[in-house]
Amino acid sequence: MTSGRTRDGGSHAEPLRADVVVVGAGPAGCVVARRLADAGADVLLLEAGDHPASPRAGLLDVGPGSRVVRRHPAWIGEGFWDLPRGRTLGGSGAVNGGYCSPARPADLEAWGREWPRRYAAGLARASERLRPRLEPMGPVATRVAGAFPERVSAIAQARIGARRVTAFDAWDPAGAGVRVRTGVSVARLRWADGLVGGRCDGVVIAGRSHDHDDDNVGAVEISATQVVLCAGTIGSASILRGSGLGESTGHPVGHRVQEHPEVLLEVPADWAPGEWAPGDGGVPEVPPALLTHVVRLEFPDHAREPLAGDDHVRPGPVHADGPRLAVPEVEVRPYALPMHRFIPGLDPVPLRIGLALMNPAGVGRIDAGGTVWLPTEPRDSEVLSAAAEFVADRIGVGRPALTLSTSQHLSGSARIGEVVDDQGHVLGVGGVRVADASVLPELPRCGPYYTVLAVAESLAADMVAARPW
Ligand SMILES: Cc1cc2nc3c(=O)[nH]c(=O)nc-3n(C[C@H](O)[C@H](O)[C@H](O)COP(=O)(O)OP(=O)(O)OC[C@H]3O[C@@H](n4cnc5c(N)ncnc54)[C@H](O)[C@@H]3O)c2cc1C
Repeated sequence: MTSGRTRDGGSHAEPLRADVVVVGAGPAGCVVARRLADAGADVLLLEAGDHPASPRAGLLDVGPGSRVVRRHPAWIGEGFWDLPRGRTLGGSGAVNGGYCSPARPADLEAWGREWPRRYAAGLARASERLRPRLEPMGPVATRVAGAFPERVSAIAQARIGARRVTAFDAWDPAGAGVRVRTGVSVARLRWADGLVGGRCDGVVIAGRSHDHDDDNVGAVEISATQVVLCAGTIGSASILRGSGLGESTGHPVGHRVQEHPEVLLEVPADWAPGEWAPGDGGVPEVPPALLTHVVRLEFPDHAREPLAGDDHVRPGPVHADGPRLAVPEVEVRPYALPMHRFIPGLDPVPLRIGLALMNPAGVGRIDAGGTVWLPTEPRDSEVLSAAAEFVADRIGVGRPALTLSTSQHLSGSARIGEVVDDQGHVLGVGGVRVADASVLPELPRCGPYYTVLAVAESLAADMVAARPW
C-alpha cells in the first residue's frame, strides 16, 4: 500500500492495482479517465502536480513563481528557453490561452483515411462537455480586423463568463468514480517479467512532488491491466524513453515534433484600454479574453511548389522534411492587452500582437535528456518576416519591431503511424497506449487544445469498445 493525495488534499491508503492507470490529468487524461470509468473500469488517474490551478479565466499562470507549471529546457531559434507546461489538474489546459479552434478537413488528410470521420465524432463528443464561447471583439482586435475584414475568424474560449473551464471541470473524472491522485509522478512503465517492450503491466512511481518531500513515498509500483499515457508531448516521451522504448526498439519517440513558430509585433500602447489589470491580489473582476479573433493570411509567394488554379491549400504526404500544405498560412493574433496583464509575475512588456506560422516546414525534436530542440527553418522565418512587414504596413505601425516567441503548441512526440497505431497502442507492445498531444500525426492549422480533446475522445471510444481491462 502507498499513500496518495486525494483531490480534497487528504491522504489515504491506495490499493496497488487498477484496471486502468491514466498518467496525467491534463485535457487528454481527463477525457480518457472519465470515459473509461463511465464504461465500468476501475480507473486510477495519476497527476504529478499538487497545486490547484488559478481559476481566473484568461490568466496564464505560467510566469515566474507559478506553482502549477513545470519548466522544460528548450532551444528555440537562437537561444535557450524554459518552456512552461501545466502541472496541475487540467494540465496545460488550466494555464493556457484557452482558445479552442477545430482543425479544418485539409489538416486531417495526412492523418489517414479514417481520421476526418473519427475526428468529427470525437469533436462532437468533446463539445458536449466543453462548450467554448465566443466573446465580443475588443479594441486591439477591432483595429487588426479592420485592416483585413475578409480574413477574420472568431475563435471561442474555454470559459463561462469570467471563469476558466478546464477539462478537469468539464469531464469531472472524480464524479464518475475515478480515483484521482495528485502529487504522484510516474517514472516509467513496468514490464511483465522485466521484458522491455513486451507487455506493460503497471507503472513505477518516481515519488511525490517536491512540495511534499517530507512524505515522499519513494519508488512504488502500481499494477494495471492497461496503462494510458496522457502526460503531454514532453512528459509522455520522457516516460516512454525512461521505460526503454526508442529508436532501438523501433519507436522513434520525439524525433519529429511540431510547433507553430510565432513572432510578436509591437503595436501602439494606446490601442489597448488601460482599465483592466490584476489587482494587488491579482484577482480581476472580469478579465477580457486573451484572444477573441484571429486573421488568417496565406503567402503563396513562399509556396514550395507552384499553385494549381485556386487550390490554396494542398495537403501532401507526411515527409520528415517536407511541408504538408504548400501555401504558408499565418495566423495574426491580436492579443487584447500586453502579456504581463495576463501572466502574473511577468515584467511589463509592450503591447504586441502575434503572428504564427500555422503550417511550418520546420520540425523539431526532443532529445534523450528531455530538451526540446526547435531550430529555425529558413523558409519559415522568411515567411514570418514577410508577414510581419505586410501586416505592419496594413495596420499602419511602420517598421516592425519583432520579438521571437512560441505558440506553446508542441505536439507529435509519439506520432500515430510511427510510435502508436490508430488506436493509440504503442506499436508491438502490449498493455500501454498513448492518447495525448504526443500522438498527433500533424499539427493542424489551429491551436491544438480542441484537437487533443477530440482525439482523446476518439481513442477513448476505441478503448471502451475493446474493454482492455
Ligand atoms: C502557456 C500555454 C498556452 C497555450 N495556449 C493554447 C491556446 O490558447 N489554445 C490551444 O489550442 N492550445 C494552447 N496550448 C496548448 C494546449 O494547452 C495543449 O496542446 C494541451 O494542453 C495538451 O494536452 P495534453 O493532455 O496532451 O497534455 P498537458 O496539458 O501537458 O497535460 C499533461 C499532464 O500530465 C501531467 N504529467 C506529466 N508528466 C507526468 C508524470 N510523469 N506523472 C504524472 N503526471 C504527469 C502534467 O502535470 C499535466 O497535468 C497552450 C499551452 C501552453 C503551455
